[in-house]
Amino acid sequence: MQLRILGCSGGIGGVHRTTAMLLGERTLIDAGTGVGDLTYDELVRIDHVFLTHAHLDHIACLPMLIDTVFGARERPIVVHASQATLGVLHQHVFNWAVWPDFTVIPAADAAMLRFEPMETGECREVDGCRITALPALHTVPAVAYALDSGDATLVFSGDTADCAEFWQAVNAIPNLGTLIIETAFANREEALARLSRHFSPRLLLDALKQLARSDAVEILITHLKPADHALTMREVLESGADFRIARLEQGQIIRF
Ligand SMILES: [Zn+2]
Ligand SMILES: [Zn+2]
Repeated sequence: MQLRILGCSGGIGGVHRTTAMLLGERTLIDAGTGVGDLTYDELVRIDHVFLTHAHLDHIACLPMLIDTVFGARERPIVVHASQATLGVLHQHVFNWAVWPDFTVIPAADAAMLRFEPMETGECREVDGCRITALPALHTVPAVAYALDSGDATLVFSGDTADCAEFWQAVNAIPNLGTLIIETAFANREEALARLSRHFSPRLLLDALKQLARSDAVEILITHLKPADHALTMREVLESGADFRIARLEQGQIIRF
């Protein structure tokens, strides 16, 4: 299985794209601005979108994706997310005011966008990859995802602060090989990180003490804010020398 990183920044500007990853050829994990770099043919092939939460940097391209490929598809795009996240999308985005409600277009029983509630602990299988929602802790309902190809498992934290249930779930994965985890803010913004339920390098390194078998896991840092990305990454590397840590790169392809 391969995971192509379309966007992994905490903001926009220049080359920066926000969170979106393409799993295989037809599954998106989050739908931030990185989705906009896919070709039209690649967009048309998307059948599934798994969302960590409803914040704009993770869903920005979903409304325009469905609008763009609408006429070229015969089956709906299925959006998997918690009932809480889907409720927010329905009420605040696909509400006819911000964007048409594609869950009833062209008809309620033949819609081109389907919402499939998926709660923490639930698992869906797409193209042989088992995708499981894990607990996360953010300012809005949020999940992480474990992607199990059969050979190895990759975990993506989504946006989260430290969360004991997350580490419990991660440590129960026998073939964990890669952990993509966010560090949105530099240490000098730790108060803001706490308030917005994100990690700073210090908070991350504190949380990583709960990771069992850490020598077997490659840790990739995502969601760095553009203004401080170099500083934040330097702070992570300086205090994280005991771990195998690198920065997640836009355009990176992870095979697992
Ligand atoms: Zn968020
Ligand atoms: Zn975010």
